[in-house]
Amino acid sequence: MDLSYAKEDEEFRRELRAWLRKHLPKRGELDGGENLSYADPRRVQAAKAWQRTLYKAGYVAIGWPKEYGGQGASIVRQTILNEELVLHRAPTLIGMMGIQMVGPTLITHGTEEQKKRFLPKILTADEIWCQGYSEPGAGSDLASLKTRAEIDGDDFVINGQKVWTSAAQIADWMFCLVRTDPNAPKHKGISYVLIDMKTPGITVRPLVQMTGEPGFNEVFFNDVRVPRTNLVGKLNEGWLVANSTLHHERNMLASTTRTQQLMNDLIELAQRRTRNGVKASRDPVVRQRLADLQIRVEAMKYHSLKQLSDAIHGRSPGIGASINKLVTTELNHDICAAALDILGSFGPLAKNAPHVERRGSWPKDHMFTLGMIIGGGTSQIQKNIIAERGLGLPKGA
Ligand SMILES: Cc1cc2nc3c(=O)[nH]c(=O)nc-3n(C[C@H](O)[C@H](O)[C@H](O)COP(=O)(O)OP(=O)(O)OC[C@H]3O[C@@H](n4cnc5c(N)ncnc54)[C@H](O)[C@@H]3O)c2cc1C
Repeated sequence: MDLSYAKEDEEFRRELRAWLRKHLPKRGELDGGENLSYADPRRVQAAKAWQRTLYKAGYVAIGWPKEYGGQGASIVRQTILNEELVLHRAPTLIGMMGIQMVGPTLITHGTEEQKKRFLPKILTADEIWCQGYSEPGAGSDLASLKTRAEIDGDDFVINGQKVWTSAAQIADWMFCLVRTDPNAPKHKGISYVLIDMKTPGITVRPLVQMTGEPGFNEVFFNDVRVPRTNLVGKLNEGWLVANSTLHHERNMLASTTRTQQLMNDLIELAQRRTRNGVKASRDPVVRQRLADLQIRVEAMKYHSLKQLSDAIHGRSPGIGASINKLVTTELNHDICAAALDILGSFGPLAKNAPHVERRGSWPKDHMFTLGMIIGGGTSQIQKNIIAERGLGLPKGA
């Protein structure tokens, strides 16, 4: 098996590395590699500026077709770009939900007018997007959603509530699932609409997560008028469009490079911290745990390479995105748990505390990675998908 990259792709990697070394924001300006806080408007502006800089240099959404602002780059180049951004601890892109979720969905299912209107501003971070799927009674069972959209002339009139809407407090637009036919079977009467977050009748209420950050929100719709031209795909057939976005989301949430980086940080921590008077990395129990985690990281890397090879050869990804999402999110959480155990009573120390490790990000990452196991479809749901669609096992009772 030849796992080396072509000469031209290695050249692309070299150029990208040189560019990143020159242009990466200084540490502290944007908390490189950490998750962005939406509560601080200066950081939000800095994150937008960073995405614009990357875009101008030709490093945003390079896989998109050229006519929509991408470069039609190969999947190998996209992988190299993702790897290098993570390895250099580049700040997370603020427009990720636009670039990785609604953008590709519009390219496949949107009208030409929608592509021209929305795609350029996604790339430049001039418009930030949020995802309005979950509701109080519709999470894993998403098709139970109740937010209603009634047709009135050229508009939909929307009433209802969404919850766990990440980034809604800074978003300009929402891609949203609404029920347009309450009498149809539950998967059939749903439509996918694009909503301007400044429309009268929308209320956004931030929810504080256990990380202490207001990452997601409740969103209420009270007679919100949305032009019918903002429907993506066909009326009542939004389930198909919604699933296309979900597939992109699962891939977005699974980064093997990020997992390896977290693992490297853990190994470095074990080599530095002591346990019972010796380096933690020399303690047999810790060593066993590190070996187990690294084996899981390696297995994940080979699975990603297999997926890359399938994509290059035009083979269907099947349930690959669900496997990636399930394994990497659980692995990230387990790596953080191991770090906290090595740190012992120093583990919970927060940013700015004396003797704090990694600027207090181990406990924060531990909580954040738990959220990632739930967001984008929980582990149990991914296991159901893998069992039923991948292994052909019968549905549970
Ligand atoms: C950090 C974070 C960010 C999020 N961001 C967004 C966002 O931007 N937009 C958005 O729309 N949503 C978002 N969500 C919501 C997320 O998609 C839902 O939380 C998720 O789909 C689970 O739904 P629920 O919370 O209603 O749990 P439930 O569906 O009520 O599930 C509760 C438990 O029961 C289990 N369960 C449910 N059904 C089954 C089954 N059939 N078989 C086995 N087990 C089952 C679940 O796995 C879970 O453990 C986010 C969530 C988190 C944590």
